[in-house]
Amino acid sequence: MIKFETNRPEAENEILNEVKLFFPDSDADEEIFHNAVIVGETVKNVVKVNQKDYFYDENLPDGDELKKKRYFVRICKKAVYKALERHTGKSMPWGSLTGIRPTKLAYEFLSEGNDLNTAERILTEDYSVSPEKAKLVSEIIKNQRNYHTKQYNFYNLYLHIPFCTSKCSYCAFITFDSNRCKKLISPYVELLKREVVESRKLRGRLGQSVYSVYVGGGTPTALSAEELDGVLSIVKSDGREFTCEAGRPDTITREKIEVMKKNRVTRVCVNPQTFNEKTLALIGRNHTIADFYDKYALVKEYGFDVNIDLIAGLPGENEADFERSLRAAIDLKPDNITVHTLSRKNGSKLKNDGKYDNFFAPQMVEFAHSALFAAGYFPYYLYRQKSMLGNLENTGYTLPGKQCVNNVTTMEEFIDVDANGAGAISKKVFPDGRIERYANLRDVTLYRDQFEERLNKKLFFTENG
Ligand code: SF4
Repeated sequence: MIKFETNRPEAENEILNEVKLFFPDSDADEEIFHNAVIVGETVKNVVKVNQKDYFYDENLPDGDELKKKRYFVRICKKAVYKALERHTGKSMPWGSLTGIRPTKLAYEFLSEGNDLNTAERILTEDYSVSPEKAKLVSEIIKNQRNYHTKQYNFYNLYLHIPFCTSKCSYCAFITFDSNRCKKLISPYVELLKREVVESRKLRGRLGQSVYSVYVGGGTPTALSAEELDGVLSIVKSDGREFTCEAGRPDTITREKIEVMKKNRVTRVCVNPQTFNEKTLALIGRNHTIADFYDKYALVKEYGFDVNIDLIAGLPGENEADFERSLRAAIDLKPDNITVHTLSRKNGSKLKNDGKYDNFFAPQMVEFAHSALFAAGYFPYYLYRQKSMLGNLENTGYTLPGKQCVNNVTTMEEFIDVDANGAGAISKKVFPDGRIERYANLRDVTLYRDQFEERLNKKLFFTENG
C-alpha cells in the first residue's frame, strides 16, 4: 500500500498526482513523506522515500502573491518528481507536469517575454519534460499561430448528445444506451434546443457571435435522422466550421449524412479506433472494419472534412497492430487524424476488470508522430488525461490548412464556450487569464427535471460570470 504524507495541505492533491505517475496502482508498497519550508525566497524540500532522503531547493520567482503560490505548488511537485525519478530510475515523458496542459504552460512562458526556444528549454530543464515532448509543444504552438489572439466577441457553441449504441470498454463518460432509453431522447432534444435558443439570445444581447460549432457526445448519430435534424437545425449555421461527431460507423446512414449536409455541417468525425477486427469486438464496439470503410466513403461522398480517431495501447494490440491501423488511416488521407493514448479511467469496464497496461504505447505514439509527419500531417493540438498509458498524450494531426479551429480555440481556452446539454461545461475566458466554468447536470433525467432552474443559473453565469 502507498503511504503518503506532506506538511503542505495546499499542495497535497497535486503532489499525490506526481506519486501516481510512478505508482499508478495503489497496491505498490512505498512510503513517501514530503516536507517543504520557505526560507526567505527559497522553498526547501525534503522527500523521504522508504527511509531515504532526497533534497530539493528552488527559489520562488519575482511577482505577486498569486504567482508565488502557484510556483510554490509547482516546486513541491518537482521535488517529489525528482525524488521518485531517482528512487525508481524511471523518467516520465512529460516530466513533473500533471494537471496543466503543456501548451498552456508554454504560452505562460511566452507571455513572460521568453521565445519558443527558451520555453522549450524551461520545459526540459525545469519540468523534466523529455526533449521530444518539449519539441512537440513547440511545433504545436507554431501551428496554432493563426489562433493565438483571444476573441472576446465570439464564442464556440457546443451541443452534447449523451447517447451511444453500446459502451466502449475504456469509456467512463456518462452515456445512455440509445436503444434502451428511446423515450428520453425526444424530450432531451427539445430541451437542448431551448437551451441553445435562450443562450444564443443572451449572447447576442452581449454582443457575442458564434465562432465555430461542435456537436459531440456520446454519439450524435445515435439519434434518429429526424432527431438529429432537430438538433442540427437549431444551430442555424451560416457556413462557419461546424463539426458533428459520428463516432460509431454503425450509426451512420445516408439519411443522417443528408441531414448534416442540409444543415451545413462542414466536418464529420468517424472513428475506427483500430483497424483490427478482433480488437473492435474486445472493446465493445458494434461495428466492423468494413462498416468503417463503407461509412467513411459515404461521408466523403458528401464532401465533408473528416477526422479519424485512433487509440494507441488498446487491449491485445502490439506495435505491429497499431502500425497497420495507422497506415490504413493514412492511406485514406483524411483531413485530420487524432491519435489518442488509452486512458484507464475510473468507472470504465477496462479499469473495473483489473489492472491494465500496454507497454507498447510509447513506441506506438512515437511511430504515429514520425509516420504522420512523413505523410504530410502536422500536430496542431494536444491534451493529456489522468491515467494515460505511459503518461503520454492525445494529439490532433492535420493536413495543411485543415485544422479544426474549434479544437484549438476551445482546448487552448482562447475563447468562451457556450456548452449545451447534459454534463456540458461552459467556459468564460477573461482578459486577466481567469477562466470560469459552469457545468450542466450530467444525468439526463436530472437535466430534464431541473431544466428551468439550471437554465436560469447558466444564463446568469453567462451574463455575470
Ligand atoms: S462512443 Fe465514445 S462516448 Fe460512446 S461509449 Fe464509446 S467512447 Fe464512450
